[in-house]
Amino acid sequence: MNGKVTDLHTVQANPTLVGMVKPKVTVMDHPMVVEQLSLVRDKRTSQIAFRKAIYRLGRFMAYEFLRTMEIQEFTVETPLGPAKGGQIKGRDRIVIILVLRAAIPFVEGMYKNFPMARTGVVSAWRGKPPGFPIEVSYAKIPELGKNDVVVIADPMLATGHTLKEVAKRVVKQGHPKRLVFFSVIATKQGIEYVAKDFPRAEFYTCAIDPALNDHGYIVPGLGDAGDRSFGAPH
Ligand code: URA
Repeated sequence: MNGKVTDLHTVQANPTLVGMVKPKVTVMDHPMVVEQLSLVRDKRTSQIAFRKAIYRLGRFMAYEFLRTMEIQEFTVETPLGPAKGGQIKGRDRIVIILVLRAAIPFVEGMYKNFPMARTGVVSAWRGKPPGFPIEVSYAKIPELGKNDVVVIADPMLATGHTLKEVAKRVVKQGHPKRLVFFSVIATKQGIEYVAKDFPRAEFYTCAIDPALNDHGYIVPGLGDAGDRSFGAPH
């Protein structure tokens, strides 16, 4: 994680300052996450192992994210008397937005901990530099209520162009309680770009990498997440 040891709660209490806005950024650095992240970064990792690791990262991130949800307390009767019990509040209000195609295994993993999530699907293409125009060829997003927690899932938050476009379409469907971005690797520049238009958004990622190359790829990153999960199209 770029040598940065961060704790979920510490980061939330002290959001990273990026430019004029103060996006809420959480780097999830659980040891299980670090292991899977190392696997996806490794160029020798096979397509199958890569996809499985992205799946696990989705599962672990969703699990850690549940710490940020409220707990409804109640009393439970054990055979020996009353004890404090709890239930996650609003877990059934999670809506996942799957950004094709790299997020497919990521979201599959997330379902392990968000089993009732309603799901939207967006197919968004990022065009060539320098403008990185975004073409959206398919978007099916559920209507959103004020108690919904929307998680936009894309393993790579690079320039932020795709995610900003996706988020714009999401908020046309209603104004959720929380707008959350899940990525495996992000850049500070990409987070900043999205946060400018969505200052209340929360960003959860496993790493923040230092650079973007001229093609908009994260460096060192992991390469093309879609190609590594599914094979290069040609
Ligand atoms: N998308 C990818 O798959 N990889 C990157 O590095 C950036 C965007």
